[in-house]
Amino acid sequence: MKKSGIAAALLGMAMLAGSSMASAQVKQVYWTTSGKFGPFPITGLIPSLPKEKMRDVTIPVSMWVIDHPKGLVVFDTGNNVAISDGADNCKKYWAAGNCDFLKPSQTRDDVIDRQLQKLGYSTDKVKVVVTSHTHLDHGGNIEMFPNAIHVLQKKELYQGWWPEKFQGRAPNGSFVVADLDNARDFNYLELDGDYDLFGDGSIMVLTTPGHTLGHQSLKLKMASGRTIIIAQDAIWMQENLDGAPAGLNYSVLDYFKSLNRLKFMRDLEGAEILMPHDQDQYAKMGARWHK
Ligand SMILES: [Zn+2]
Repeated sequence: MKKSGIAAALLGMAMLAGSSMASAQVKQVYWTTSGKFGPFPITGLIPSLPKEKMRDVTIPVSMWVIDHPKGLVVFDTGNNVAISDGADNCKKYWAAGNCDFLKPSQTRDDVIDRQLQKLGYSTDKVKVVVTSHTHLDHGGNIEMFPNAIHVLQKKELYQGWWPEKFQGRAPNGSFVVADLDNARDFNYLELDGDYDLFGDGSIMVLTTPGHTLGHQSLKLKMASGRTIIIAQDAIWMQENLDGAPAGLNYSVLDYFKSLNRLKFMRDLEGAEILMPHDQDQYAKMGARWHK
């Protein structure tokens, strides 16, 4: 092979390597919601807020569709389909107190299967469902994905199937055990720590316990160069990021450790933090694809 031929071959290999590196990133992520909760006073969620910060909020119930070359990923599946279209339906499936306080606005079209349809997918095209934690507004429709790989911390599965008494058990608490009844035989990737989902560093599962025993968040490396942290309930909203702790925690100490973990990633890596129940951030960034 002539020198120029070798150079061309090397260049070709470099380009190949470059393109495979570029493809091993998240192409895009869509931020959608399983309807909203509210309006209610923010202090119902964050009792530590000073009076002057008091306001009524209507918060998104966030779910994420992640488009990666190795497969479609859903992060959280929202409220169970059974609570759609009004308080009467809600009270047949959730405890009445949850329906009255949270005031879910979910319609049938807001549910994850229809959200996927709107984006041109179907539930059976989803390769992986990552569930941040087993609260009723995050793991409500795991049962819609019998063929997916389900990624949870093992501790969170224990907790979802039998929460501590102080957290409230069905039907009163934030865990609805019926959400998981028919999902016991699914294919679970049961984690005990962080995990690199596709082995390329582009979708990192991060353990962020505190809100619940085995809560987890995601960090995405986008093909565009952006780094996005989807906090889910490690950081509900801006007020929490600003230092007021959430009013619902398995462990307040772990909650702060996890919040700080994500803040340092923001500050050291230049990551953007997206918060699942922040109405203002959703108004700016929700209901669309991010590259
Ligand atoms: Zn939660």
